[in-house]
Formats: sequence, C-alpha cells, structure tokens
Amino acid sequence: MIHALGFDLDGTLFDHRGAAARGASVFLSALGVTVTDAAIDAWFAAEAVYFEQWRSGRIGFAEQRRARLRELLPGLGVDLPHDDAALDALFERYLAAYRSAWKTFPGVRDLLDDLRRQGYRLGLLTNGSTAQQTQKLEALGLTDFFDVICISEQIGHHKPDPRAFAELVESLDVSGAECLFVGDDPVSDAAGARAAGLAALLIPSDADVVATLTRALAYPDPHRPAASRPIA
Ligand SMILES: [Mg+2]
Repeated sequence: MIHALGFDLDGTLFDHRGAAARGASVFLSALGVTVTDAAIDAWFAAEAVYFEQWRSGRIGFAEQRRARLRELLPGLGVDLPHDDAALDALFERYLAAYRSAWKTFPGVRDLLDDLRRQGYRLGLLTNGSTAQQTQKLEALGLTDFFDVICISEQIGHHKPDPRAFAELVESLDVSGAECLFVGDDPVSDAAGARAAGLAALLIPSDADVVATLTRALAYPDPHRPAASRPIA
C-alpha cells in the first residue's frame, strides 16, 4: 500500500530543460553567439558531463560550472576570462537568465495539492546544491507542498545511491514499500529507487508527470503496476 510519494525535481516537476535552453539562448546571444540548435545541444552535453563529475564527487559545484564554460565557449568564438572569479561572474549571467525562465510543468501545483488532500505524505529528493534547489523550490512555490525535502548536497548522498532514498523514506516515516518514487531519470530515479526497495514510476520523456502519475494511481494497487508495467 502506497502511503507516500517521493518526487525528483528537475525534469519531473520543474521544466529544467525549457528554462536552461531559454537561459543559454539569452546568455549566448548576449555574448554575440548566433544561437543554433547545435549550440544548445552542446550546452546540454557539457552540463551532463560536468554535473555528473560533480555528482560523483570528482569536482566541486563551482568548478563544474567553470568547466562547462571552458569547454563550450571557445568553440563558439567567445574568449574565455582568465581567472575563476571572472568565469564565475560570467556563469552568473547565465544563471540570471535561467532563473528568470523557471517554471513548473503545467498542472504540477494542482497535482501536489490533490495528492495532499488524498492523504499522501509527500517528499522531494533532488540531486543538486542546497542553495540552488532551495531557491528554486521557493521561486516555484513548491516548498510548502512537501513534508520532507532532501537535497543531495545537504544529506551527503546523491541519487542513485540507496542511502539517499533511505534518508527520504526515513524522514517520511514510511517503509520503502510504502513509497512510490516519481522521476524522469531511468538510472538516478527509477533504478535507484527500486534498488533501495521503493516502488518507482519513470516519467517518459514524451509524457508529463500529471498524466503519468494520475494514471498509475488509478490502479487499485499503484505499487505493482508502477513497478512492473512498462510505463516507460
Ligand atoms: Mg530529473
């Protein structure tokens, strides 16, 4: 029986890709770059590589931001600043554009409100920096929906580490089997949750969390269909 729902944030409740694409476009245009699909693809490729290096503990959070600029900008014809402080200031210009494009996917707040009314305990488990994810949740108006918020930097474990999911369910005061975890990443979210004993629901890249979760919860036992049906 599912008593609690755990959620990923970026790409699940929050349209990270839309905001980052908009932010990168504004940022690169201001640097004189003609923004093409290839440039945006390169932005996301660098983000994936260096965010993963941070997640796996190889580099610090500020350094993954600098590394992304060092990798990307020369190929787009932009001269790199010479020191870290200047690189950080440059990345802040991207962040300003990214933040101004922050928004949830449609219907997310109504969905969370409905789930609370139905009596589910709600938790959030996100990989990221405490400062940025906290700010994001506040800006999106999502903070108060959750009984528990676990940010990987703060708890010291990143998804898919089972200890991250254990922290979530302990804080929610439920067993793993009583918690359905909902996310968009097959490895960090779905496989990680299942390895930690939770049920998992993967949001397909061409679907949205509202429709997918509503459909899954319509089954008498959402644990089994969510965990076993090839929804993804
Ligand atoms: Mg995600």
